[in-house]
Amino acid sequence: MKLNKVTVDDINVKGKKVLVRCDFNVPLKDGVITNDNRITAALPTIKKLIEDGGKVILCSHLGKPKNGPEEKFSLAPVAVRLSELLGKDVVFANDDEVVGDNAKKAVAEMNDGDVVLLQNTRFRKEETKNLEPFSSELASLAEVFVMDAFGSAHRAHCSTAGVTDHIKTTAVGYLMQKEINYLGNAVENPVRPFVAILGGAKVADKLNVISNLLEKCDTLIIGGGMAYTFLKAQGKEVGLSLVDDTKIDYCKEMMDKAEKLGKKLLLPVDTTVAAGFPDPIDAPIDVEVVDADSIPADMEGLDIGPKTKELFADAVKTAKTVVWNGPMGVFENPILAKGTIAVAQALADTDATTIIGGGDSAAAVIQLGYADKMSHISTGGGASLEYLEGKTLPGIAVIGDK
Ligand code: ATP
Repeated sequence: MKLNKVTVDDINVKGKKVLVRCDFNVPLKDGVITNDNRITAALPTIKKLIEDGGKVILCSHLGKPKNGPEEKFSLAPVAVRLSELLGKDVVFANDDEVVGDNAKKAVAEMNDGDVVLLQNTRFRKEETKNLEPFSSELASLAEVFVMDAFGSAHRAHCSTAGVTDHIKTTAVGYLMQKEINYLGNAVENPVRPFVAILGGAKVADKLNVISNLLEKCDTLIIGGGMAYTFLKAQGKEVGLSLVDDTKIDYCKEMMDKAEKLGKKLLLPVDTTVAAGFPDPIDAPIDVEVVDADSIPADMEGLDIGPKTKELFADAVKTAKTVVWNGPMGVFENPILAKGTIAVAQALADTDATTIIGGGDSAAAVIQLGYADKMSHISTGGGASLEYLEGKTLPGIAVIGDK
């Protein structure tokens, strides 16, 4: 699928006030940013708008403040980090109401190429409900709106959607463009064979993803906790493994669907089991490997086994496009991370286009040291999943077509 949206390359922002929705929802510990990936990912768009002589007004949410403004959710640390990364002043407009006296004054005093960061958009209770007057207040600051927060594009909020009711000139930024191009091409127009790998805890979280990807891919690989519901649907004993009994019929339906469509659906053929879930999650644990049809009734499957690692890696070797979402086991525990590492390694070793959905799988790939080996690691967990489900994301839909 070709992105048919207006981009920052199509607009002229010289001397104009440009409101940019970024995703600065970074992890913080005691007020210190522990991972600034999302800030660096936003830089190309911000730099482009500065170079073009726009007056760049940035906004984002951070965390989930429940009852309005809270110091621990302030974007102040982001302003400092952003200023370091850009090598220029970023004026932080610290208003509890986001569009307050500080913001209005800061914007009024901007020269071309200046940067202002507004306070956390979720300090306003209207934000997540997409209600007025916050949308029009945000819009009143600018003449152009740029959406670059892929991680928030699956939510119709004031700052991702409502604001476009009041600003005519809209565009997507480079990060949005990159995410949509990678994920969109993979799903809609993949170089084949296209192998999709799904893992993670629950089948229920990925019902639509499984169904949609089955239609689009050549091979669907299922590992992680969700595989055991499929194994049970095949009539296998799964012991104490994670199972969703309400989704057994769904799994049968998906296996039938794969057969009808002539798609390969790969499930674990062996599994690493233990007497129970590790507690704490990274505690040493005694494990053994059993075939997928011989899981003892008193054991829990916590990772894919060695034969499955090979089976999945072989499937990846034949692929030209690979999309991966969800770990193969309890990767937080080094003893149970082997399956996830094997899949990461298989992706690292191939010349295929490799795309990692956000969230836990992105965290696993980064934590295990494979980040620079992947073609694309999405910055949005929920957003990339909804994209893989084939949904239209509200934050993309509101941006003008070319
Ligand atoms: P996101 O949508 O954020 O990318 P994800 O799909 O990557 O999430 P989740 O569905 O949240 O991942 O599942 C990840 C969790 O699943 C991990 O914490 C991991 O420990 C757990 N998990 C993986 N395999 C198993 C298993 N066999 N039994 C129990 N838990 C498992």
